[in-house]
Amino acid sequence: MTFLEALALIPKPTTGVCPVCNGTKDDPRSTPLARVDCQNCGGQKMFQRATGRVVLRSDGTPCTHDYRHFLKIGACYNEYRCEHCGDINPIDSGD
Ligand SMILES: [Zn+2]
Ligand SMILES: [Zn+2]
Repeated sequence: MTFLEALALIPKPTTGVCPVCNGTKDDPRSTPLARVDCQNCGGQKMFQRATGRVVLRSDGTPCTHDYRHFLKIGACYNEYRCEHCGDINPIDSGD
């Protein structure tokens, strides 16, 4: 197999530029004094930062997540799942 043939076997990118922050990683609510991580491309998750990129929906467009309640685990730990791309967002609402 040649190098170019091997390249052709690499799967197409499964992420695209976040449609909420347009790749800036800043939430639209951000101000020069109070920067907020984009809540669509990583900032919505515990222990993660915004990346400016999100997974693609099945139609090939970058996902604007629409999380719906999915699982309740324990007293204050819940999982939310995006209706469009299946992304899981665990939320610990404990004190
Ligand atoms: Zn974003
Ligand atoms: Zn999604």
